Amino acid sequence: MAVGGPAVVRTPHDSTPSSHHERGTAGPEKGAMAFLDDAEATTYRMLKHVLQNHCTTHRLCLPHTLVTCGALVAFVCAQRDETRGALEPRLAHTLADLKHYTRARRSAPPLAPFPVECLAHASEAHLAQSEALFQALAQFLHDRLAAERATLAGAERIVLSLLADLCAMLTHQYAHTAEEVEARIDRLRGPLQSQITAYHRRRDHGGSGASP
Ligand SMILES: [Zn+2]
Repeated sequence: MAVGGPAVVRTPHDSTPSSHHERGTAGPEKGAMAFLDDAEATTYRMLKHVLQNHCTTHRLCLPHTLVTCGALVAFVCAQRDETRGALEPRLAHTLADLKHYTRARRSAPPLAPFPVECLAHASEAHLAQSEALFQALAQFLHDRLAAERATLAGAERIVLSLLADLCAMLTHQYAHTAEEVEARIDRLRGPLQSQITAYHRRRDHGGSGASP
């Protein structure tokens, strides 16, 4: 786990999403904005802004944005040493956090609606837009990490929060039930696992490029 950065005094009501023992699930808003400090919260807000701008400008639909953001979560998780050799328990924890964040967003204001009409899903332009979004978000996070405005653990909280915003949109925009949303989150396990493993393999072989 990354250390350093500004020291932060935590209140007793803070929730650490990556702690191994989460305290209860009482309190409807608990965990919705589980950031360590202001810098982390700011990075999240800015990243969310980048995402929303991109989706509106390039008419990227929610399903595509979900896949792109999932790839970003895999990209960040793969850089954390904790995922080495203990990927399955880490992923179980990550998905539990994601469900928790998503639940907490039921009563929070949703993102702006995504364009319903999607370009042909297999079209070159659409794939390019998904990739451009990934690159923009990854670059932004990279810069914040480099400027020490976020830690890797924080980056994971941030991208998970972003993914939770998108998962919540399944309910807000597509009227999915809570059970359907959680089932969808469960189905992320396989893709996340293979993407993280692929990133590990790529890094072991000297590659360092960020791509979905
Ligand atoms: Zn699409």
